[in-house]
Parts: sequence; structure tokens; C-alpha cells
Amino acid sequence: VKEIKERVFRRIDSDEDKIAKLCSDLIRIPSRNPPGDTTEIASFLKDVLNEKGLDVKTFEPRKSMPNLVSTLKGSSDTPHFILNAHMDVFPANGDLWDFDPFGGEIRDGKILGRGASDMKSGLTASLVTFTSIYDLDLPLPGKLTLTLVSDEETGGRWGTGWLLENVPDVLGDACLIGEPSGRGIFKLGEKGTCWLKFTASGKAAHGAWHPLGDNAIVKASTAIPKLMSLKGWKGRTPDELRDIIKTQKRSIENTYGKETSELVDGLSVNVGKINGGTKINIVPASCELEVDFRVPIGITSSEAKTKIGGELKKAGLEDIRSEFIGSSEANFTSPNEKIVKLVRNNVEEVYGISPEIQIALGATDGKYFRYKGIPTIQYGPHPYNMGAPNEYTTIDELIGTTKVHLGVTMEYFWLGE
Ligand SMILES: [Zn+2]
Repeated sequence: VKEIKERVFRRIDSDEDKIAKLCSDLIRIPSRNPPGDTTEIASFLKDVLNEKGLDVKTFEPRKSMPNLVSTLKGSSDTPHFILNAHMDVFPANGDLWDFDPFGGEIRDGKILGRGASDMKSGLTASLVTFTSIYDLDLPLPGKLTLTLVSDEETGGRWGTGWLLENVPDVLGDACLIGEPSGRGIFKLGEKGTCWLKFTASGKAAHGAWHPLGDNAIVKASTAIPKLMSLKGWKGRTPDELRDIIKTQKRSIENTYGKETSELVDGLSVNVGKINGGTKINIVPASCELEVDFRVPIGITSSEAKTKIGGELKKAGLEDIRSEFIGSSEANFTSPNEKIVKLVRNNVEEVYGISPEIQIALGATDGKYFRYKGIPTIQYGPHPYNMGAPNEYTTIDELIGTTKVHLGVTMEYFWLGE
């Protein structure tokens, strides 16, 4: 394996320009979500695979949100390794950018544009891994599947979520996702989400006669500090994650300041939207709050909702209604899984650094694989300006990510236990 790997890595180095160009081509096809239309980029990627002689199945449970699945079949059905990447990207307001977000410009060792870090570079790495394994033309002791999906930026229900419920071919034994993490960091789990809409109801009256009414905005604003007070509420950290979480807390604190360390294993609270009242001189009868709680590992989204409801009740605000407008469960892959060791070893080999293992604070499609008990790791380039103006990636990390994905995939099949 070592020899073949070295040969393949040399090939990646000599193909550097081609790989950078492929990533740039992908950026040049806008696949903003919303609206999430990935028809054009999916058809480009399907052509790339077809030209190689690879079969691609297309699943389109939602119009204009196709998902591509391609499988290399070997001598047996197991082990089955999955490479997963999403094709959609965040929207981009070009006025705020220093360059064209969909220009895919390559300059000073960087590839510029929306999706460069999240995650058209990771997608490129997985795609090149898949086609390189195919080009090796060695008997594969198992199956390798590439899934290129839509709808990730809006939750993944019609992408990875749908595939795992409807296409048994994508239920693998392990999965690697090239979502941004950082060259010396990989992620084996993520926090859950508990998105709640709170509705405070009151009674309308003339503003000059306000004691005759009941002010819903005042009620909702009384609730806000109560909700904020739940910040940092801790989960029951599983023993096998204790050291990982301790290290991550220290490292996030060093980079972003003291108050950020509780984000790793505590509840986070963002009051994101407020809507209430009809007119300045009318006592408002209704006020709505939309609040984004991120739930640590060890707490379910419904446990969080119950705790939040309890806090409002304690404050005498039990008549404020709350309902889910979105949720996902915190999830993780055991650090003892084979794929964890493979990713660690390959990052060490490619970059010469011992990587830090982390829990992602946001949600990815990794959750759907982990819900199904499939060990899943997130490894990709640093999230340079992810979701912000002037997003980019570096060619160095694009190539490094590609090598890590390739190394992990090859060793998954050919290194044994
Ligand atoms: Zn992403």
C-alpha cells in the first residue's frame, strides 16, 4: 500500500494545476442555496464522471435538487466506504466582495469565490479520490461510493437525509466528508439544533389606555433574559469524549476568548428574530421570537425544549407558547473507530502535524450518517471566510485534503485492521 500511495501522491502533486482548475470550475457554476438549484453543477459533475466511464445514478426527490451516486464495485459488498460532499453553497452579495464570488479566480496560491472553502474544495478532493481509485485499476476488496448532494445548506432533508432513507446503496460502513475543518483539525461529532418559535399573546387596547390591554411585546422581552440565562447549560459528556472536549475548550478559548469555551459542551442561545405589534399607539396582542439553541452532546433537542419551557414557567411566563421550527440531534463517532485512526495518521503523514479532534458547533450532513450508526469524519481545509464575503481556499490545502482523503480511502480498503 505504501508504495502505491506514494505513487498516487506524486501523481496528485503533478496534477496540482488540473485539480485547482477543477475546483475553480465548480466555483464558477453558482449553486447558491437559497434557492438551492444545483441542476447545472450536478450535470457538470455527472459529465466529469461519465467521461471517465463511471456510471452515475441521479435521484431528484425535489425538483432542481438532484443528488448523484456513483459506486465502484469490487470483489465483495463489504467493507463499503462512502465519500460525501454537498454541491450547494451559501448565497453571496457581490457588492461586499473584493472579487467576483463566482469568478473562481486563482491568484497567489489561492482559489477565490463562494464555496471555495465550504465545500467545493472538499468536493474536489473527494471526487479526485474517487476517480484516482478508479484509475488505479486494482481489485477493490469492497465498495466505494461517492455521493454528491443538494440541500445541505438548508438542512439536507432532500439531499443526504433523503438518500439514507431511500437508497440502501449509500448505507456504508464508514464515511468521510470534506467539509471545512482546518488542516490540523478533524471533527467526529457535532452539536444538535433546537430552533424554537415563541409566541407571547396579550390583549389589544388603545395605547393611551394601556392598562386595559396586555402587552405581548413586554411579555416577550421579559422572556429573553430568561432564555439567555440557559447559556452554557451542560450536557452529560460521554467518557470517551472527555479529553477531546477538554482540549477543544482550551484551544477555542485561546483563539476566540474565554466566553467561547462553553460553546463546546454547553447550550448556546441566539435570539435571531423578533416580530410583534401592529402600530405605535396600539397595545400589541402578539409577539413572536425565533431562537436558535445549539444543544451539546448528551442532551436531546426535546430535553432542551422541556428545560427551556421549565425556565419560562419558573418566571411566570408559562403562557408563552413554544414550538419547534427545526431540530437535529447532537451526534458523534467513537474515537476508537478505525476511520478516526486513519484520518489522524494521514493528516500526520501529509502535514507532519498531530491533528486535534473536535466537535463541530454547527450541523452538517454528517448527522444523517451518524444517526444510522455509520462512523463519519469531517476533514477539509480551513474555513477561510466561510459564509462571509471574500471566501477562498488555498491550493496547498486543496492538495493536502485530496491526499488525506485518498490516503484514508486506500488504507480503509488495503491496510486491514
Ligand atoms: Zn458545508
